[in-house]
Amino acid sequence: MFERSEFAHDPATREQRKGPRWGTVYGSPFLCLLSFGEAKESDSAAGPNPGLPRNHNILRKQQMTAATAIDISTIRINGDRLWASLMELAQIGATQKGGVCRLTLTDLDKQGRDLIVRWAREAGMTVTIDKIGNGFMRRAGRNNSLPPIMTGSHIDTQPTGGKFDGNYGVLAGIEVVRTLNDLGIETEAPIEVAFWTNEEGSRFVPVMMGSGVFAKAFTLEHAYAATDTEGKTVGAELARIGYVGDQEPGDHPIGAYFETHIEQGPVLEDNDITIGVVQGVLGIRWFDCTVTGMEAHAGPTPMALRRDAMQVATHIMQETVAAALRHAPHGRGTVGMVQVHPNSRNVIPGRVKFSIDLRNATDALVDQMADEVKAFAARKAAETGLDVKIEMVSSYSAIGFHADCIDAVARAAAKLGYSNMPVVSGAGHDAVYMAKLASSGMIFIPCKDGISHNEIEDAKPEHITAGCNVLLHAMLERAGT
Ligand SMILES: [Zn+2]
Repeated sequence: MFERSEFAHDPATREQRKGPRWGTVYGSPFLCLLSFGEAKESDSAAGPNPGLPRNHNILRKQQMTAATAIDISTIRINGDRLWASLMELAQIGATQKGGVCRLTLTDLDKQGRDLIVRWAREAGMTVTIDKIGNGFMRRAGRNNSLPPIMTGSHIDTQPTGGKFDGNYGVLAGIEVVRTLNDLGIETEAPIEVAFWTNEEGSRFVPVMMGSGVFAKAFTLEHAYAATDTEGKTVGAELARIGYVGDQEPGDHPIGAYFETHIEQGPVLEDNDITIGVVQGVLGIRWFDCTVTGMEAHAGPTPMALRRDAMQVATHIMQETVAAALRHAPHGRGTVGMVQVHPNSRNVIPGRVKFSIDLRNATDALVDQMADEVKAFAARKAAETGLDVKIEMVSSYSAIGFHADCIDAVARAAAKLGYSNMPVVSGAGHDAVYMAKLASSGMIFIPCKDGISHNEIEDAKPEHITAGCNVLLHAMLERAGT
């Protein structure tokens, strides 16, 4: 178990990172000069030309090292190493069907966190944990007063989850740092890789808990009090696995935030495109609809004299889908949960309660879809005389990511020669909350058949590599080299 103090910034680790050092940015923003070793006092004080300005020898040293200049646009991450790390992390909680079950704040989650933290430290990063257990792994820059350019995601999974959802975003960030270390590249702003607590919301609700507390969407106390089906709380479980840090959630500046993720949908694969330049996340409205009629015997009751709640409910269900189709391309309408009362083969249903999930790219569009479904339901109620109630249970605003981050992702993908297209995310991500705090963007890669939250979730190594290369270049553009 970690001692709390281990999470504090560790000056020794920072000291170890001192050499080899980087020289200056030179000419083109993509051209950097390597300058190993620091200019010694004697170089200027007692050098061969003591009359020359003090920085003469430093300049000469830079000129001598011009042969080792790296054209930043040519650098690439190590795809094999990233893949190996993904597979190693996937062993923790591995399921027989090839997936991962690593629910948040379990012993397995602790093992996963410990491994990530170890890898970060081995890469020379310092690690800070906040009070909701979010981890921030930092690689110092030249100017550490600048807010860090951050990437991250989550390592908790669904009970029948896969190897890539979330894990890819965290490990891609670590691979970016490993690559910069390999090449001795120093950035102007620090770089941080975050892992957010309980993104999946499977064991404890709400979803995106760690990033939500960080963004002050709800309080730490609210999150701590959340209970699982066994009555265990987030606060107690977080303490048990040793991941209650000292930092106040949100007390942590962010310069820009990027998140790399499998698409979790079929659009990229369907279009044979490598990189999705994510424009935003769909707005969501959740409703419960209850249709109340009257139970009666299925045999003796003639069709004209029935008050069949199911008959009306199915029309509203169809309208839910129709509203989404009318508001293409991003409209989504889903009825995923149905309760029928009394749920008996030979009884006309007296009450049907079902969920309505509406989504679209803007709040105006999703609200219009909701209005249309409600108006349709009201007409059906008037026509049939049955009672129809529609109540909103949750609402999440549509999020548009920021033009500068979207453009950085698109530029990186184009520069690297990857096919790319603008996409929207139909699922929530930690980046949704980060977008409230800082300029944010996401990078999607295809996943097999668009499937996630499933043990068969799969992604191709070349796509994993491509997404991480885009992340590397987008982050370097923002962090400065
Ligand atoms: Zn995820």
